Parts: sequence; C-alpha cells; structure tokens
Amino acid sequence: MILEHAAVEPFHKNGFVAGCEDTREGVLIDPGDEVDELLDAAKRHGLTITNILLTHAHLDHITGVGRAKRALGVPVWLHRDDNFLYEGVVQQGRMFGLKVDPQPPVDEFYAGEGPLRFGRYQVRVLHTPGHCPGGVCLAVTRDGESSATLFVGDTLFAGSIGRTDLPGGDMDTLLRSIRGVLFAFPDDTVVWSGHGPATTIGRERRTNPFLL
Ligand SMILES: [Zn+2]
Ligand SMILES: [Zn+2]
Repeated sequence: MILEHAAVEPFHKNGFVAGCEDTREGVLIDPGDEVDELLDAAKRHGLTITNILLTHAHLDHITGVGRAKRALGVPVWLHRDDNFLYEGVVQQGRMFGLKVDPQPPVDEFYAGEGPLRFGRYQVRVLHTPGHCPGGVCLAVTRDGESSATLFVGDTLFAGSIGRTDLPGGDMDTLLRSIRGVLFAFPDDTVVWSGHGPATTIGRERRTNPFLL
C-alpha cells in the first residue's frame, strides 16, 4: 500500500493518503490543516483520489475537507452520528478560540461496514463510538491477504486513548469499542492514530496503561 501522512500546527493531527500501488487509486483520510501536503503527496504518487473518508468530525480532522473537495471533486464520507459535530464545526472552533470556516456538506453516510474500495484494497468501516458518537475505525486489507492496517482516528493512541470529555464522549463506551472491536485484531496489526506515532494492537494490548 502507498501510505503518506502529514501533521501540522496547531493540532498535530495526522491526515493520510492511502493508495493502491497497482491501480493508483487512493483515498484521503481526515484532511485537516495539512491538506495541501496530502494533495501534494497524492500527486507525487500519481494517485487518483476517489473518496474522502472521515474517522470522526472533530474540527482538527475536518478543516481541510472543503479544500480537498474543491481540488478533487469526490464524495465526503462520515458516520451519521457525528453529523451534528460536522455541522457545528464553526462552534467547535470557537471553543478553541479559532476561526474555522464551515465545510461543504457530507455526501455519504457510512452504511454498516461498507466495504469501500480503492484499487486492490478493501476498506471496512468499524463503528467505534466513545470518543464521539460517530467515531469509526477504518480497516484496510489488500485483496487475498488477511492482515489489516487500522486507521483509528482518536479512538486509540500509542500509550493512550481518546478523550471523552467533549460532547457525546463516554469512557465506558470507548473502552468497549477498543476492547471489543480493535482488540479483536491480531497483535501484529499496525495502527495509525489521529495524533502521534503508529503502534500495533499487540503493543497497546500489553502496555497501554488505560487498557491493562
Ligand atoms: Zn477527536
Ligand atoms: Zn483529533
């Protein structure tokens, strides 16, 4: 899989470009303020981006959606239960003392696990509420292979878990999502979080202080 990530001030939130090395189709995941880097990376790899996939609708994960949509003209996907956050992005900005532009409306709400595709890769959409009501994790698997790469948004971090003090957050729900959905994956599954470095399911299962 072709995989690039970028993060910039002020949130240091990871945005991703994932692409198929055979067909050169790809997706953008959580374009925020680093959206120009993501668009450059897609171009550098000669990728045709077919969808913009959002793990959730906190402002740091969506402030680049409008710019990405204008550049690419492809559908924006979100879980329905986060649409109130998405439509409230201007108010979210105010909470952080930031002026944020409204974003173009979501085009498609995830329906069950999907799956969505890019080239020879399948994207399964796993509903993992707790950090927010409509949080999802994206499990990307190449056709014919069993191991997945997980994009978990702010559900799980290397050595930490997502905060649950924002509107719609709930600690018990979050822990259930991590233990029930993410920890069902094998230990060697690579996990890309919305902030910070990549990790693996096994490492978090063994060492994450919030989950021991
Ligand atoms: Zn978040
Ligand atoms: Zn975040």
